[in-house]
Amino acid sequence: MKDLNSLWQSVLSELKLSLSKTIFQTLFANTDLKEYQNSVATISCPNPYLADLIEKRYYSLVKAAIDRQTGDNVSLSFMIEKIKSKEPQETGPLFNLVKKSANTILANHQFLTQNKSSGLSPNFTFKNFVVGDANHFAFAAAQGIVKSPGITYNPFFVWGGVGVGKTHLIQAIGHELTNARPDWKILYASAETFGSDLISSLKEKTINKFKQKYRKVDILIVDDIQFIGGKEYIQDEFFHTFNSLHLSGKQIILTSDRKPEEIQPLKDRLTSRFMGGLTVDIQSPDFEMRVAILKQKAEQRGVSLSENAITFIAETIESNARELEGSLIQIIAQSSAQKQIPDLSFVRTFFGIKKNDNHKKVSHRRIISVVAKQYQVKTSEIKGSCRKKNIATARHIAAYLLRKELQLPLEQVGSILGGKDHTTIMHAEEKIDRLFSTNQQIRHQIIEARKMIYS
Ligand code: ADP
Ligand code: MG
Repeated sequence: MKDLNSLWQSVLSELKLSLSKTIFQTLFANTDLKEYQNSVATISCPNPYLADLIEKRYYSLVKAAIDRQTGDNVSLSFMIEKIKSKEPQETGPLFNLVKKSANTILANHQFLTQNKSSGLSPNFTFKNFVVGDANHFAFAAAQGIVKSPGITYNPFFVWGGVGVGKTHLIQAIGHELTNARPDWKILYASAETFGSDLISSLKEKTINKFKQKYRKVDILIVDDIQFIGGKEYIQDEFFHTFNSLHLSGKQIILTSDRKPEEIQPLKDRLTSRFMGGLTVDIQSPDFEMRVAILKQKAEQRGVSLSENAITFIAETIESNARELEGSLIQIIAQSSAQKQIPDLSFVRTFFGIKKNDNHKKVSHRRIISVVAKQYQVKTSEIKGSCRKKNIATARHIAAYLLRKELQLPLEQVGSILGGKDHTTIMHAEEKIDRLFSTNQQIRHQIIEARKMIYS
């Protein structure tokens, strides 16, 4: 049989094929196979956090690779061993970072500078766009548009939730076409700008100038077209603009936060126009994409964040790229202001989770009483069934914290909370999970509650 080292190298080569480069480097670069006995493979990781992550997300992948190499049916076990790594240490380049002030770092954030004539922001390029499962179809279609604008997919309609990268993608198309066809006129505008331009052109009797702006272009990109829902006059003008461009084979690119048929109310003739080309959606990014986006954003700002810190943020914020970027900026600014290194422990504290992996044991009574105090309700109300908003929210948060902090089974949380059904608890947990990444107020309340629970 192979020795441990060559067995592990073969396993790693397999894993490399099925994981993105970023994830592979982040999670597996400093791992080793320490022992392989009685069908138990012991893998060493440089810290408990990475071990957890591999166990939680990649257990079956690693197991399958070892099984294939050995013909065995292994179980995995993990151990922590600090490895002399070639990776930057948490104390490395980050010291440079804390020397910079928050303002310098945020000044690197150039998203606000726009190219006046086309309306495009310089940072929204394909080079800065991370492609993964959530957006690969939209990305491929966008490449098609760049190759043969106005021909293949017209209009190109991109929809998806907030912050998933719609604006970034369509502006990237704009940039590519600006480079490929320097003589073309490319216009990017939000639907809101289209509307307000129309209204002021009516007031100022400059409708010809308006038509000149929107109809004498080779590519028209209109962002957040759902805005025209219910605005009849703007819809009519947009319909004419659309037709005029479409008839002459000019590419139209639109985004919306929902599908064309869900923009309400929208005149049928527009709905059918919107659906007449190619409609693609962008989903929320998965874990791998979130890691890649964070790395890309940190790099763009010239900030080096440790792998652990990055994966922790990607684990915590599950919603969308905008939230990820927002948290990243806050973390950078806060660590810089407090002259601390934004390492894993800083990031954990930032999200309100205890530094230490072994949580101090707390009782369920303590969790409930902290939440009751925070929401100014009685413990008996949390355990009761009143549906008043703040009581219900307090109850959901209590359920969430009991699950997350004490890892209690759903049934047990249900019985602690006055005999609730396990599905009720499951829904509460799911709901707060979602709110944690999308709702800043809830996130802050949970972070505060955690601090109080362990203080
Ligand atoms: P939307 O228009 O869908 O609301 P944006 O395009 O404005 O979202 O994206 C929000 C932020 O997230 C932007 O800073 C953008 O650069 C970033 N972003 C979104 N998707 C990606 C991606 N796939 N790769 C890199 N950055 C992304
Ligand atoms: Mg947008």
